[in-house]
Amino acid sequence: MSELKLCQGPKCHTYTTQDRLKGMKGSKTFQTRRKSSFYYGNDNFCSMICYNDWFNKFGEQAINHFGRTTEPKKLTEQNAWVKDYDYNYRDQHNPKSNYRSVNKITKEQRPLTESQYDDSTYTLNTGE
Ligand SMILES: [Zn+2]
Repeated sequence: MSELKLCQGPKCHTYTTQDRLKGMKGSKTFQTRRKSSFYYGNDNFCSMICYNDWFNKFGEQAINHFGRTTEPKKLTEQNAWVKDYDYNYRDQHNPKSNYRSVNKITKEQRPLTESQYDDSTYTLNTGE
């Protein structure tokens, strides 16, 4: 039995659906949803509505707390490498690797081995 968690939406209990209605006649309350897992916001919210309610209430503080982006980030030649491969590659006579790194800025391509392709830590990027 997995542990139940509460939706973190600050207004979850104010949405009056039957599944939120708890208690016996005379002492009924609508309550925050409680489930073993949620679909939204990294498993913290029962719905996009609750996810947005959280952001509307706390988002500004959260951005200021964790650091507001004040300058545009830049994708440069040094960090524009992505992995790619041909889904339909079937040429047995061409020994060239089907896996490759592609630079989104220069369009340069460099071959990759399959294990480099599968290694999530392998990259040609040298910056963020
Ligand atoms: Zn909720």
